[in-house]
Parts: sequence; structure tokens; C-alpha cells
Amino acid sequence: MLRLSDEERLALEQDGVKLPLGITPYYMSLIAPNDPEQPLRRTVIPTLQEVVKGPGEADDPLGEESQSPVPGLVHRYPDRVLLLLSDFCSTYCRYCTRSRLVGHGALRPSRSRIDRALEYIRATPSIRDVLLSGGDPLLLSDDRLAWILLRLRQIAHVEIVRIGTKVPAVLPQRITPQLVRMLRRYHPLWMSLHFTHPEECTVEAYRACAQLADGGIPLGSQTVLLKGINDEVETMTALVHHLMKMRVRPYYLYQCDPITGSAHFRTAVEKGVEIIRGLRGFTSGYAVPTYVVDAPGGGGKIPLMPNYVVGQQGDELILRNYQNGLYQYPNGPCSDNLL
Ligand SMILES: *Cc1c(COP(=O)(O)O)cnc(C)c1O
Repeated sequence: MLRLSDEERLALEQDGVKLPLGITPYYMSLIAPNDPEQPLRRTVIPTLQEVVKGPGEADDPLGEESQSPVPGLVHRYPDRVLLLLSDFCSTYCRYCTRSRLVGHGALRPSRSRIDRALEYIRATPSIRDVLLSGGDPLLLSDDRLAWILLRLRQIAHVEIVRIGTKVPAVLPQRITPQLVRMLRRYHPLWMSLHFTHPEECTVEAYRACAQLADGGIPLGSQTVLLKGINDEVETMTALVHHLMKMRVRPYYLYQCDPITGSAHFRTAVEKGVEIIRGLRGFTSGYAVPTYVVDAPGGGGKIPLMPNYVVGQQGDELILRNYQNGLYQYPNGPCSDNLL
């Protein structure tokens, strides 16, 4: 199906590649057979660069293992938890933040493990928001997913449930009327979708998102900033404009995590800030995601923004607008400079 480059062929012959190769036939149909530099192809076909461990890289940079009270559950923030249902995906992203476990067959949606996680959530009343992730939760059968959603709904303090999935981008055929009918029984249910590039916004992806939105599920997108793939203002603008038309609110733009073998995907943080500066003011405010760095060691997501506060003159604040114009705002006296 593809004419492999030497870099790709050698990577496939190596033992060092930890994350399996997996691509749905649908997503494969979007891949250029003869162009190893095509953005979508680079996100799913490994190259030799993946086996090179660079400085500052780690298998678990976010320290998820140390914040996991029961297997497959990460409790980092006071009021919400991340529940990893399985470790399998339909298509494996080469920059996966959980490549240490995804696709290894060790994290299964077994009854006993999910029961332990549910028990922890039940016993922890501060948890009002449960994120289902993995792996991709939508690869579970409708019945299994319904079983988990029902158990979560039976816990009074769980106010909302969120599902994180790449299925609308890589396997849109999985979004069926039956699935949506099942999901809508468990509202308020939110979804975070993973879209990376405008070429993923096909007729099929539009249709999948329309079904979910019509099912009353608020949709957000989480996009990873990737060098040479979506790190231009123009590309990102095209992506967020597609997402708005798909009724998907751009939620987060992630700095690519320093997982082992990710150097070829990571941009400098300044690039992300430049992209936000190129969006804010130039397009709908709803289309501008929050750019975040997930702090190594488990510090959580830290937002980064262009600095629009230029300085202070007496009680006046000097602010910069999106067109680089300077404006004075009569702030009044303030003892602490928190800006
Ligand atoms: C990202 C994340 C969340 C959710 O964060 P939000 O900012 O609420 O979307 C929760 N737990 C963990 C461990 C996370 O990495």
C-alpha cells in the first residue's frame, strides 16, 4: 500500500520500536503512498528517529505512574480523574504520550480492574468529573461501554463523564446511530476528539461529528503541536475552521510531550505561542484553543499565552492588541503586580 522510505523500512525491522504499527483501512486511504513527508503519514508510520532517546526524554514524562492509586487510574487534580479503559487503539499515533503502555496488551478492560477503579471513584466524593481514555474507549463494544457508563452514573457525586477518542478522525464508521442512542442515555456526557491536521476533516469525519453533536454531546478537540505537520499558523487556522464547522470547539493545543523518541515531532514552545498569537483576534474567539505544556513530573497542564501586557505607566496599563497596536487602560492603583 505504501512505498516505504529507508528510514521507515529500517524502523519496521528494528526491535527498539515500542509502539505497535496500526492504521485503519479508512485512515490508510488518506495516506499518500509515495510521499514519506506527508503530514498524516508522518503521524502513523514510524521512522528510525523513534528509537533515538534524546535529552530530557522519558517513557513516562508526566509521572502518571506515581499518581495512580489503582491500576489504570490517574488522580492528579482535586476534582477529576483519568480512567484508562484499555491500551488499544485503531490507529497508533507515533507521538503518543502513553506509548509506554499503549498497544502492549497489559491494560485490559477487565471486569476486576474496572471494578477497582469504580470502587476508588465511589469512595472519593471529591471526584465530580471522570475522563475515560486509554487507548481509545470507543473501541469497546456498545454493551461494555454502556456497562461502565451506567456504573459511573450510579455514583451520585460523578457529575460529568468525558470520553477522549480519536475514532471520529481515524474510524468514523464506528459512530453509528446505535452508539449515539446508547451514549445519550448517560448525559451529561462530553467528548474530547483528537484531530491533528485539516486533511483529517473528510466528509466521513464531518458526518461522525454531526451525529455526536446531534446526540447532544458537546465536542472539544485536543490537538498536539507537531513539527512539520501542523506548526504553521495557516495549517492550524484551516484546522480550527474545519473543527468549528464540525461543531467541535478547539479545546487544547498541546505542546508535544518529551516521550522517548519524540525529538523529531517537538517544536520549541515559542512556536505554540506564535500560533496562538496568529489565531487570537484574527479569527473567532471560539476557534482559539488554550496552548498548554503538561509539566514533566506530574505538575499538570500549564497554559502559555502571548504576553499582551506591555507595561505600566503610573496607574495605566499598556496593552498590546492582536495587530501590535498599543493601548492604555485606566487600571487604577494596585498594590501587587500580578501581571
Ligand atoms: C489532562 C488531564 C485531566 C483533565 O484536565 P482538564 O484541564 O480538566 O481537561 C485530568 N487528569 C489528568 C491526569 C490529565 O492529564
